[in-house]
Amino acid sequence: MAEGVLAGLDTGCSFASLPRGFYAQVNPRPLREPRLLHANPDAAALIGLGADALGTPEFLALCAGGARLADIAPLATVYSGHQFGVWAGQLGDGRAHLLGEVRTTNGTWEIQLKGSGRTPYSRMGDGWAVLRSSVREYLASEAMVGLGIPTTRALALVASNDPVVRETVETAAVVTRLAPSFVRFGHFEHWGHSHHEQKALLDYVVEHWYPECREMTGGETDVPATACRLLAEVARRTARLIAQWQLVGFCHGVMNTDNMSILGLTLDYGPYGFMDAFQANHVCNHSDTAGRYAWNAQPAVAHWNLYRLASSLLVLGCEAPALEACLASFETDFLSAYRDGLARKLGLDAWEPADAALEDDWWGLLHAQRADFTLAFRRLADTDRDADPWLALFADPVPARAWLDRYLARRSGQGGDVEMRRAAMNGANPLYVLRNHLAQHAIEAAQQGDASEVERLWALLRDPYTERPGFERCAQPPAGDAPAVAVSCSS
Ligand code: AMP
Ligand code: MG
Repeated sequence: MAEGVLAGLDTGCSFASLPRGFYAQVNPRPLREPRLLHANPDAAALIGLGADALGTPEFLALCAGGARLADIAPLATVYSGHQFGVWAGQLGDGRAHLLGEVRTTNGTWEIQLKGSGRTPYSRMGDGWAVLRSSVREYLASEAMVGLGIPTTRALALVASNDPVVRETVETAAVVTRLAPSFVRFGHFEHWGHSHHEQKALLDYVVEHWYPECREMTGGETDVPATACRLLAEVARRTARLIAQWQLVGFCHGVMNTDNMSILGLTLDYGPYGFMDAFQANHVCNHSDTAGRYAWNAQPAVAHWNLYRLASSLLVLGCEAPALEACLASFETDFLSAYRDGLARKLGLDAWEPADAALEDDWWGLLHAQRADFTLAFRRLADTDRDADPWLALFADPVPARAWLDRYLARRSGQGGDVEMRRAAMNGANPLYVLRNHLAQHAIEAAQQGDASEVERLWALLRDPYTERPGFERCAQPPAGDAPAVAVSCSS
C-alpha cells in the first residue's frame, strides 16, 4: 500500500507503543472475491480520503483485509470484561484487526476491520462476521451520527460469498470502522491486577484523549489523582451518551463492560434496536432472557459498568472512596442531560420540577398503549394546529387527549414564536430511525447482491430530521401483521 490513493495519508499506530502484552500482531484473513457494497464518503473525509479513492482496488483491498495501511503490522488487542453481570475473564479482539491510524489536522482516526478473521483472542469463535450483522452495524453507526449521538464510524462495507455458519449458513462481510480509539472499559479491567500495565494504559489514554485529566505533583504525574479525574470524565461522557440513547429509544442490547467505550462512544452494534412500540422495559436482544439490558435499565447498567471500571483502577493506588466520589454525580449528570434533551423534544424552553409529572404520565401513556416511540415525539410539534395525526397513534384517544391538554397548556404558557418552536422540535425529534424492519429490508436486498437499499437508508439517516418525499414508508413502524424481526447475539 506504499503508493496510490492511500499513500498521501499520515499514518501510524500509537497503540503499538503500549507494552507487548497489550496486543498480538496478526494479519487479517482476506475475504475471497470481495465486493464493496458501500463506502461512506462522510467517514472517508474524516481521514482525508476523497470520493475518488473509494472506488479503487487499493481501497477495496484495504477494507477486505487484503492489504496493509502503509507498512503497519495489523494487530488485535486484548481486553476482558463483565458479560451479563458476570466476570468473563479474557476476551479481546476476536475478529477485529487494527490496521493503524490516520493523523489529520482534525484528529487521529484508528482504522479497524471487524469480521476479518481469527486472532489469538478468538476463543471458540470463527473470526468472521455475517453480512446481516455487518449491514446492521454499518447503517446504525452512521444513523447515530445523523442523530448527533457519539459513536464509532463506519467507513466501508465489504461482502463476499465466503460461507459463515450461524443458525443457518450465511455469508461473510467486513465492516471498516473508524474511531479516535477503540479502548474499552474492558481494557482497563484486563489490567486491573497489574500496576505496570495499568499505569501504561492510563498514561496512553490520558496523553491522547484526556490531557486535561493529568494531575501533576512535584513535576510527576500523580497517578491516583489522574486516574480519578479520568474516571470522573468517562462517567460524565457515559451519562450523557446514555441520556441520548434514551431520548431516541435506542437499546444497545449488549451493554457488557467490554462494549463500553472509554471515549463515551456508542460501540459494538449487535442486537441493538430502535424501539417501535414503546415499552419501558423493552428488551431488544432475544438472547437477553433476563432483560438485564432493557431500555429502562440502561442508565443503571452504565453506572454499574463504571463501577467495574473504577475497581480496575484500585491497582493504581486510588482509594475506593475517592473512586466512588467520581461516580457519585453520574445520576445527576444523566438526569440533567436527559431532562435538557426531553425539554427540547417537548418544545419546552427549560425543564421545570413540575414537568416531572407530565413526563411520568407521558411514558405511562406511551407504555400503556404501546404507541410508536419516534412518531409520538415527532407528531407532538403540530398538535396545536391539528392533534389528529398524533392522536391516531393511540388505541384509546381519551387518556391521550387528557395528557395532550395538560401538555399544550404547559407549552403555550411559555409564549414565544410558534414557528420557531415547531422547527426546533422537528430538529430534536427525528422522523426516521433505523427501525429493525428497515434494516432487515436492506439486509435481504444486500444478501441478493443489491446494495441500493443500504445506500438509500444511509443517505436518509444521515439527516433524520428532515422530512423527505418518497420516504414515507421509512417513517412507519412495521405493519401490524409483519413477523417481528428477532435479533440476537448471533453475528
Ligand atoms: P460481542 O458480544 O460481539 O461484543 O463479542 C464478545 C467477544 O466475543 C469479543 O471478544 C469478540 O471479539 C468475540 N467474538 C464475537 N464473535 C466472534 C467471532 N465470530 N469470532 C471470534 N470472536 C468473536
Ligand atoms: Mg463486543
